[in-house]
Amino acid sequence: MSDEALSNLLREDRRFPPPAELAAHANVTTATYEQADADFEGFWAAQAERISWGKAPTQVLDWSNAPFAKWYADGTLNAAYNCLDRHVENGLGDKVAYHFEGEPGDTRSITYAELTAEVCQAANALTELGVKAGDRVAIYMPMIPEAIMAMLACARIGAPHVVVFGGFSAEALATRIQDCGVEIVVTTDGGFRRGSPSPLKPAVDEALLECPTVRNVLVVQRTKQDTPMTEGRDLWWHEFVGKQSTQHAYENFPAEHPLYVMYTSGSTGKPKGILHTTGGYLVGTSYTQWATFDLKPDTDIFWTAADIGWVTGHSYLVYGPLANGSTSLMYEGTPDTPHRGRWWELIEKYKVSILYCAPTAIRTFMKWGAEHPEKFDLSSLRVLGSVGEPINPEAYVWYRHFIGGDRTPVVDTWWQTETGMHMISPMPGVTEGKPGAAMRAIPGVVVDVVNDEGVPVADGEGGYLVVRKPWPAMLRTLWGDDKRYAETYWSRFPGAYFAGDGAKKDSDGDIWLLGRVDDVMNVSGHRLSTTEIESALVSHPKVAEAAVVGATDETTGQAIVAFVILRGDAGDGGPDVVTELRNHVSKEIGPIAKPRQIMVVEELPKTRSGKIMRRLLRDIAENRELGDVTTLTDSSVMHLIKENLSSSS
Ligand code: ATP
Ligand code: MG
Repeated sequence: MSDEALSNLLREDRRFPPPAELAAHANVTTATYEQADADFEGFWAAQAERISWGKAPTQVLDWSNAPFAKWYADGTLNAAYNCLDRHVENGLGDKVAYHFEGEPGDTRSITYAELTAEVCQAANALTELGVKAGDRVAIYMPMIPEAIMAMLACARIGAPHVVVFGGFSAEALATRIQDCGVEIVVTTDGGFRRGSPSPLKPAVDEALLECPTVRNVLVVQRTKQDTPMTEGRDLWWHEFVGKQSTQHAYENFPAEHPLYVMYTSGSTGKPKGILHTTGGYLVGTSYTQWATFDLKPDTDIFWTAADIGWVTGHSYLVYGPLANGSTSLMYEGTPDTPHRGRWWELIEKYKVSILYCAPTAIRTFMKWGAEHPEKFDLSSLRVLGSVGEPINPEAYVWYRHFIGGDRTPVVDTWWQTETGMHMISPMPGVTEGKPGAAMRAIPGVVVDVVNDEGVPVADGEGGYLVVRKPWPAMLRTLWGDDKRYAETYWSRFPGAYFAGDGAKKDSDGDIWLLGRVDDVMNVSGHRLSTTEIESALVSHPKVAEAAVVGATDETTGQAIVAFVILRGDAGDGGPDVVTELRNHVSKEIGPIAKPRQIMVVEELPKTRSGKIMRRLLRDIAENRELGDVTTLTDSSVMHLIKENLSSSS
């Protein structure tokens, strides 16, 4: 992908050095990078000391059967013990693990001792239902504490959990249950969403018509709405779990014992069942939460505003934070209920010091306007994180300015369901931040950008992102499909992990993510990145969000088609808005990047984790039948866009 068009892009020259105070006490320093570079295995052996092992590992990495890795293979541990009991044993029983805030305003602060007791009860309940180590349990719940308790109860007895996002349809739930051979489902009567209770249990009933492997359903009472229960199969959590002992003797499992299966978000096609195992995953998530966010477990209030149905929820709402004994906020609902300042109100109320969310949320807040955060005291914040998509430079600067008060570093963390942990990110006490760049591999991770032949590109050039060495929280395989695992990730460039994302090294060698390889466009022989054109559009004051796709074009090979959402204060943008935006892109990037068509839309199709689904927009731009829409947040969006197009053309 080395092409002059790429090097014209991203002429971003704003720089944000680490705050002096933060740098002076930073967890990660330049010495951390040096240690990791000098002795890879020694570095990861040292990180393993964050964990309490039953039997301490004597091995670090076993790569003899590549690409099937083993980390800390002869060690044993219990993930739930590491997240719970050991903190209680260390005198932190009264420390809050979660401040929970329900959407209707109900609250609950749960200490480590309380969480331990309730997880023990749930573990005993699962055991009474016949769940043994290795059996799969599906969790299909809204963002309430019992969802985390169910995950930890599974981990405690060695039963891999399969969390399915609570907003998914019965069909999406059924396919995941079938793919994994799930035996027990944990769910709720419903959850609160945009101010009203919405039922969940009926979707489970519908899914189970096609899932004969499921024996029992445990139902948490959340909304108290009328809920049909199937005699002999369905049990109320408060009755069945509530009656169990709060003591549970845990067992240590081998480090490579499966911890969970999580399906990818489906941005590019059918979701893949990613398998994570126990020891390496806990080491990787606890280390990265500590490093990337400069976590001080004694004082920070940490908020990962992501659903547990997504890997970010697993790694940075549950396992990393609990393994580190930190205090987190968990919020059930949407950011605009009952008002558009809800998040900022929560940050003020709980004195949140680290916020971690997705660019899609940030762009939504930009669209709503700065008057909402400005009403609240956000001075407790000291580090801001971003994940899920490339963050547009304008969104980064807005986030840092309006949310971070120009004090806070912004860490743009690149990683995947597959990687389990952060891989590329600024370190808040070391890195001089560049808006829009994920910068460098974190200490202990080795990445590169290579060309079609697998040769590293020079600074200033673009190519494919690869990971050169295994890392502890890496996926071990795709559930039930070793062959697809090896083919998908390890065959494109022998010896390296192929991430599927395009990236560019700038003249300093820092890394910018350019979007998925499948999304890179070829216009008149020039390779252009969707991300960069989107960022150019978002840098225009009238634009809140943009999605760009390449549509087949007889003359140019592919032509650029852009979909934009205007900012709240831009009205309908005026009659010439499309011309204005086309010229703006041309000025920012070059005439080659000028979109053939720009469509002003109200919404964009997104996955449940908030990523734009460009493949569906491509279907529209090329007048095709729509592909798989089961992981869309709102499938009506696609109809709206289609109607909008037919009326405007
Ligand atoms: P599927 O693999 O099913 O298509 P998905 O890739 O969206 O779904 P995830 O594992 O949730 O599923 O997302 C990982 C992807 O998200 C990365 O490969 C990358 O494309 C994108 N991504 C995540 N964080 C960043 C980031 N900080 N900058 C740029 N891209 C990011
Ligand atoms: Mg992916």
